[in-house]
Amino acid sequence: MDIVNIDKWGIGAASPLYIAGPCSVETPDQLEATVKDLAERGFKIIRGGVWKPRTRPNSFEGVGEIALPWIEEVKQRHHVRFAIEVASPYHVEKALKHGIDLLWVGARTTVNPFAVQEIADSLQGVDIPVLVKNPVNPDLALWIGALERINQAGVQKLGGIHRGFSNFNDQVYRNSPAWQIPLELKTRYPNLPILNDPSHICGRRDLLASVAQMAMDLNFDGLIIESHNDPDQAWSDAAQQITPLVLEKLIKGLQIRKVSTENPIFQSQLELIREQIDQVDNELLEILSRRMKLVEKAGEYKKLNNVAIFQMERWKKVFETRPEWGRSLHLNQEFVKELYKMVHTESIRKQEEIMEKPLEKKEK
Ligand code: PEP
Ligand code: MN
Repeated sequence: MDIVNIDKWGIGAASPLYIAGPCSVETPDQLEATVKDLAERGFKIIRGGVWKPRTRPNSFEGVGEIALPWIEEVKQRHHVRFAIEVASPYHVEKALKHGIDLLWVGARTTVNPFAVQEIADSLQGVDIPVLVKNPVNPDLALWIGALERINQAGVQKLGGIHRGFSNFNDQVYRNSPAWQIPLELKTRYPNLPILNDPSHICGRRDLLASVAQMAMDLNFDGLIIESHNDPDQAWSDAAQQITPLVLEKLIKGLQIRKVSTENPIFQSQLELIREQIDQVDNELLEILSRRMKLVEKAGEYKKLNNVAIFQMERWKKVFETRPEWGRSLHLNQEFVKELYKMVHTESIRKQEEIMEKPLEKKEK
């Protein structure tokens, strides 16, 4: 993908890039109060939903295009740029007509290639930065597909927004972060800026700072955070919004890490640690390979005795004991569980291979 560096987007972008503002534009007064406060605290790019994709009908779906002239006015009064969500060519047309500076494609739109393509077509020849949120489902290819569609329409001021993924039973997050997905995107497209959206990941105020810090530790290019002058009274996403004052404190409390350092002592120390990690990884793989050989042996034996691959009791025991063993080695139990799910899937696959192989070799 052909992507223009964020500092050439012509939006006065600093690094990290912060976009802050209410989930939804509600009234001229709410917009004015929030933007004034944010602008006075140094926030230069404001977000605000005009059309809101809501999960259930009959809830507030945004005030719609009457908000666009209000936005034009606050922009002039407070010298800020403004970002809104677009979900159709109509939204794009209205946004451009009213001088919106930055567009984003929402998570519920990214999942739909038809909708994304229509938006992309409407952006042909338009020079405006576009951010694409991850799709609601943890599907990196779908996220990349949406970015490619917009990019192929000629939009080079392009970035991603990591807002987490829908889940059925995450006890902590509204949308599970699954950090490996945005990191994989960054690995594949190092030039693509990615912002983190702690608001929609957390769904609640008390977690925002830790997710924002995590994003900074992972070298995300910025944050898009919801802020409202009276969060508890917000018409949408009240529980995750914070006042501009609280947001300012949150941002000031962040540790911004450097991508790397030229310091030769740091470099050589790090190299030393990495060499040891390489060594350990080698051992780890050798051990995994030994385990798989044993799995194969068990597979041959099951086959010879015509016994099914999947033995519920055994699997239950493995799945119960390994996280316990891991705990005494100071390993996170969830991590060990996930690891063993993968190990088990691979073990079953290996044994399937053995079951499918004709028997004659062993019987001779
Ligand atoms: C939003 O940014 O307010 C929004 C609706 O987000 P998402 O598309 O991530 O759900
Ligand atoms: Mn929201």
